[in-house]
Amino acid sequence: MSFQNPVFIPGPTNMPERLRKAVDMPTLDHRSSLFGEILHPALQGVKKILKSKTAEIFIFPSTGTGGWETALTNTLSAGDKVLVARNGMFSHRWIDMCQRHGLDVQIVETPWGAGIPADRYEEILTADTSHQIKAVLATHNETATGVVSDIAAVRRAMDAASHPALLFVDGVSSIASMDFRMDEWGVDIAVTGSQKGFMLPAGLAITGFSPKAMATVDAAKLPRTFFDIRDMAKGYAADAYPYTPAVGLLNGLKLSTEMLLGEGLDNVFARHTRIAGGVRAAVDAWGLELCAKSADVYSDTVSAICTPEGFNATDIVSLAAKKYDVAFGVGLGEVAGKLFRIGHLGSLTDVMMLSGLATAEMCMADLGLNIRLGAGVAAAQEHFRSTAGVPVLAAA
Ligand SMILES: *Cc1c(COP(=O)(O)O)cnc(C)c1O
Repeated sequence: MSFQNPVFIPGPTNMPERLRKAVDMPTLDHRSSLFGEILHPALQGVKKILKSKTAEIFIFPSTGTGGWETALTNTLSAGDKVLVARNGMFSHRWIDMCQRHGLDVQIVETPWGAGIPADRYEEILTADTSHQIKAVLATHNETATGVVSDIAAVRRAMDAASHPALLFVDGVSSIASMDFRMDEWGVDIAVTGSQKGFMLPAGLAITGFSPKAMATVDAAKLPRTFFDIRDMAKGYAADAYPYTPAVGLLNGLKLSTEMLLGEGLDNVFARHTRIAGGVRAAVDAWGLELCAKSADVYSDTVSAICTPEGFNATDIVSLAAKKYDVAFGVGLGEVAGKLFRIGHLGSLTDVMMLSGLATAEMCMADLGLNIRLGAGVAAAQEHFRSTAGVPVLAAA
């Protein structure tokens, strides 16, 4: 196993040296004022990346999944109804968590490869005249299928129905890589983790709560202790945590937000769009198709690439790991064996991406797929030649 190659999985992502060093720090007394100098800038940085002026940020030693649990348990009570589309493994897991918490889940079954059907949400919310639905759940970027959904459209659907439900958005594989506008989209709870767009090790659940979400917390009856944001808020007011914080990770998060904001969010998003464009040009040159059904739902952080009938796509991932020491993502759930995934988010350059595409080509050729070596790489090179170095505003 070599650690010299970048990974091309959709999280955890490659870690810049500066962030690895920021995470590796000597023991610090988390009850000293020094901790506040790490905590508060990290919270403020996250708030800027969420594009929110009003959100309260809560960060737990956990992962994105813990962020889901934080959202549900702090705002809802057993039996509450929630509306959610299932269009991939991550939305499926969120639904499973809702059901295990005794919520009444209205599921909109959606083809894997399609985005959230905002029009269906609008019909259902309009019909819910007694406002039984307490929360609408949306997975911004379905990491299993490489599909991005239009959260602004979900908000418009809720507003068109004049429905007061809260809007919870899983942004684990979008936030800090693709545009996310918490206030403008009326997102009530945003959820993410440290190991994707923030380029850190796994270990932090990162959440933002709108004032409207905050107003529901005392009435919510689902049990919570570790994830109780009221205890966390009390801790923050005293530069502390209700328990031992993950100080190194928070120090990394502080620096990560500085790096992202220093690069400029528009530049970060444009970099992801450009690299994703190169990957998609390669997929096209290979004669393969994305799981994502149409260009409007193509994700800029992960591409799920379908292989021909009868071929086991997981073989590509296994061979890449064994023969070339390179990591790609396997298909999950319904699409296991039918596709492989290339993660292209976080700390990544055009040049790194070319090495990943070249590796995918070697694996596919090794496994007998009809791939001409260099075809996808050349298509990506052309894409990068024409888009790299172009100032974002000029390109947009
Ligand atoms: C990675 C991911 C998760 C799960 O996050 P963990 O940090 O592994 O708990 C949830 N949702 C999406 C969309 C993801 O990509």
